[in-house]
Amino acid sequence: MSRIVGIDLGTTNSLVAYMEEDFPRVIPDAEGRVLLPSVVAFTPDGVLVGEAAKRQLVRNPTRTIYSVKRFMGKGYEDVKEELRYFPFQVLPSHEIVRIRVGEREVTPPEVSALILRALKERAEAHLGEPILKAVITVPAYFNDSQRQATKDAGRIAGLEVLRIVNEPTAASLAYGLHRLKEGIVAVYDLGGGTFDISILRVKDGIFEVLATNGNTHLGGDDFDRAMVDWFLADIRARHGVDVGGDLEAMQELRLGAEAAKCRLSFEDRTVFTLPLTQHGFTYRREIFRVELEGLIEPFVQQTLSPCRLALADAQLGLDQIEEVVLVGGSTRVPLVKRRVQELFGKPPHSQLNPEEVVALGAAVQAHILAGGITHMLLLDVTPLSLGIETLGGVMSVLIPRNTTIPTTAKELFTTSVDGQTVVDMHVLQGERELAKDNRSLARFELRGVDPMPAGMPRIEVTFLIDANGILQVHAQELRTEKAASIEVKPSYGLTDAEVERMIEESFIHAEEDVASRLLIETRNEADAVIRATERALTQGGHLIAEAEVARIKEALAAVKAVSDGNDRDAIREATGRLNQATLHLAEVLMDSALKEALASKQVTEALEKK
Ligand code: AMP
Repeated sequence: MSRIVGIDLGTTNSLVAYMEEDFPRVIPDAEGRVLLPSVVAFTPDGVLVGEAAKRQLVRNPTRTIYSVKRFMGKGYEDVKEELRYFPFQVLPSHEIVRIRVGEREVTPPEVSALILRALKERAEAHLGEPILKAVITVPAYFNDSQRQATKDAGRIAGLEVLRIVNEPTAASLAYGLHRLKEGIVAVYDLGGGTFDISILRVKDGIFEVLATNGNTHLGGDDFDRAMVDWFLADIRARHGVDVGGDLEAMQELRLGAEAAKCRLSFEDRTVFTLPLTQHGFTYRREIFRVELEGLIEPFVQQTLSPCRLALADAQLGLDQIEEVVLVGGSTRVPLVKRRVQELFGKPPHSQLNPEEVVALGAAVQAHILAGGITHMLLLDVTPLSLGIETLGGVMSVLIPRNTTIPTTAKELFTTSVDGQTVVDMHVLQGERELAKDNRSLARFELRGVDPMPAGMPRIEVTFLIDANGILQVHAQELRTEKAASIEVKPSYGLTDAEVERMIEESFIHAEEDVASRLLIETRNEADAVIRATERALTQGGHLIAEAEVARIKEALAAVKAVSDGNDRDAIREATGRLNQATLHLAEVLMDSALKEALASKQVTEALEKK
């Protein structure tokens, strides 16, 4: 059987690993480097991949492509906000992203394929045999089309992609956590430009992604920028020179700052030097680890709330996390390790190289596949909540965000108008309280419901999401058994940016949303009490004193006067007074109903005795 390699196709760097005996190992290139920069340059002399491409990035910015992972499986609309970060040209109005390099156009899978091919050749040179099969890792939050694009890249590179594995799962595999009988694992991944937190459940060798969160623009690059700004200010203060506009000096400063940052992970102090020959001096500055920590603390803090949000989505407390795994070069920073340990209250796994751990885990997964052990299942989660619109335009959630799929949910609803025979079903996706602020996925009608008083029909709505993320909605009136259903694909046509915007807006508008929802609920309750009172008056008005009827009608008018307004307290008070005013009438009605029932029972019994 041919060998299967494990590949970490990263945003900044990529690696390939294989299993030697029982240990996973990353494969170095001829110069002994294991990280292959995920950079591809199209030059007049041919295509460069990795270190060589990275080195000429400053000289050839429009033809050098980096961070292509951010574009995988996306359309132009998804990425146009990001484009200001990139010097290369992305062509508008295409279904999938296309990048212009000189005369030609390339797609992200093609660019990734060039990186994969370089890794494939590296493995072939090292192992002395053709490599045709691979396991490739992707972030846990990658959707179907991003996973598909990654598979396509493998195919273009001449690799059969046996499995796409989630990066946090791979990292856990590298630490042997699949051998846990059962447990919850948090994987904290802080790289150069992205932060991801994933909460996994392991049970009998099966990994399930319970929740993910993160920030697509947070990482070691922010630490570097903070240091660069600090040095710039210091150069200005001590030498009266502003090097901010000097592109070459800035490039040197950025590289030097990153190197100093990395040294400070192992030393308490370091010396930073920057030759500024054009200004006639060399800048020298000693910097202490505590100074760096002061600069980067705000960024480290920014990683902690996504951790708490992911836990909340997984409905878990911090004390339920059994293992914490660190991934990404920036987790070497002692302050990062400290904050993670403080948050979770236990030391994280950091024994393996955090930049290699995902590739090592991919090799373990490859080994498991080669050995024929295929029971490692990876489950997905819903990115946004799903529900239906109910009375007053409120969204009623059936399947909350970050629920593991496949899943199903069922709830009973009813009508709000007497004699309603058609019920509108409006399927929604999003995190806001009101239907109008969420995304409309589908509308359909449940027809042929027998005319009944409002509140009588029992309409059971079932949501079912299969393993492919396809949602089926089924509505059935339980008395008449009239049913209708519809199928929707929640991810279809929804860009990731939209998903993120929708989640973000739900935080921004949380307070006003809750207020609107409460107002609508109060109004709905007032309407229900008005209807019930009117019905009771028709049925039992003659059984009570006229003065009492007049009092009830007065209270009824008071509710009607405010029920359409926005003053929730006024509606609640008026409804409360109406409820009070009708208490006696309700008792009288109940009594008479009871008497009627008793009378008919006596008649029946009398008849039976005969
Ligand atoms: P990754 O995306 O996982 O390859 O991580 C890259 C990031 O890790 C970059 O921002 C690097 O500067 C950072 N990094 C690598 N080694 C260290 C280190 N020893 N100390 C601090 N940061 C590091």
